[in-house]
Amino acid sequence: MRVKPKPASKKGFRCAECGKGIVRPVAAAGRQAKYRTLTLPVPVKLEIPTCDNCDTEWINDSVARKLDAALEKEFRARMRDLVTVSLAHLSKCSISKAHVERVLGLSQGYLSHLTTTGDKTPSEALALNLVHFAQNPRLLRRSETLWKRLSGSKPEPAGALGR
Ligand SMILES: [Zn+2]
Repeated sequence: MRVKPKPASKKGFRCAECGKGIVRPVAAAGRQAKYRTLTLPVPVKLEIPTCDNCDTEWINDSVARKLDAALEKEFRARMRDLVTVSLAHLSKCSISKAHVERVLGLSQGYLSHLTTTGDKTPSEALALNLVHFAQNPRLLRRSETLWKRLSGSKPEPAGALGR
């Protein structure tokens, strides 16, 4: 992908990458783009100025904004689904959202808000913690033990790492 500051016209322009092709807005299936930690599908209908010879994509500001918004939406949905299934799994192990919130130092109701309202994107760090807890609920108990070891008058961080 190349960055072009001016918006691409429908007429197209000569590709500066190969010097042969014409760059025109193209909507196509099967495209992917990296977004944070994931590689996500680019919406089929999203037009990206693309060279008809070398396939170089020329992303202008307005395309970048649309692409970013679409990828953010998809990323959020996937992270939220991951958080939701992890919490459901923990619930089966009799571990409540409130319990997880206490261990992770989150405000009360944060996880419910995250999975129901959908106006926030769960971070990878939070999603990973929840996945690890769901895969191995004992990690949650260990985390509680760690916080206890790190409490008190003379905590030893190295000791807190011990199992
Ligand atoms: Zn080209």
